[in-house]
Amino acid sequence: MTVRTRKPYIAGNWKMNLDRSRSLDLVKTVKGRIGDGSDREVAFFVPSIYLADVSAVAQGSPLGVGGQNMWYEDDGACTGELAPRMLREVGADRVLIGHSERRHIFREVEEWMPRKLRAALDADLQPIFCIGETLTERNANRTDRVLKKQLESGFDRVKPEDAHHISIAYEPVWAIGTGETATLEQVDHVHAMIRKWLFGKVGGEAETVRILYGGSVKPDNAKALMALDTVDGLLVGGASLQAETFLPIIEYDAN
Ligand code: PEP
Repeated sequence: MTVRTRKPYIAGNWKMNLDRSRSLDLVKTVKGRIGDGSDREVAFFVPSIYLADVSAVAQGSPLGVGGQNMWYEDDGACTGELAPRMLREVGADRVLIGHSERRHIFREVEEWMPRKLRAALDADLQPIFCIGETLTERNANRTDRVLKKQLESGFDRVKPEDAHHISIAYEPVWAIGTGETATLEQVDHVHAMIRKWLFGKVGGEAETVRILYGGSVKPDNAKALMALDTVDGLLVGGASLQAETFLPIIEYDAN
């Protein structure tokens, strides 16, 4: 049996889906099911245009609300971007950094990651720092090397005392939105590697960092993933868009 020292963290990433009314309905339903949040942390990462409304509905509950991306400066000539302080102003308490869709579709570069992670921490936004390898990288046996490089650069400005605010999501690029999930062995290996890397980077504070898996998580694989000692939570895309699929993931241990 898994003996947990870190609170399980189940996060839904809506990406560019849903509309205002369906978003609010979903938040109301989930809010009504998560109790006092003492045994697990649940959060939604929301299109920024809906953040204020979603935060208002979530208010008074333990449901976390976050942005899907942000820039690292507080103001300036950055058309189309969002400052960390703006996310906070509309009720976000967390943010995704380095999601693979940002890295690959929108060509976000590695050098931005340490600045974004630092800016999130400085703005009191809890980051989920996303890393993952492509299929080409995995097939070339470069997975560990690629992930360590992403960790090295992302954590460049992180101090040991910041560690407990940060979560890491391991999301193999080839498993996101494809219906293909990494095997339990692959997930276990990578998560153990990340934990070991963290000890080298932040010492004992490594114990406080939650490591989530993401990539085609569904109600029927959530329980097995969460049964791994190395998995502290799940980052869920498609299956977080409906209560019928997200609730059984949140309640993975009841299934
Ligand atoms: C994601 O958006 O981070 C994700 C893992 O998506 P999906 O669950 O749809 O693969």
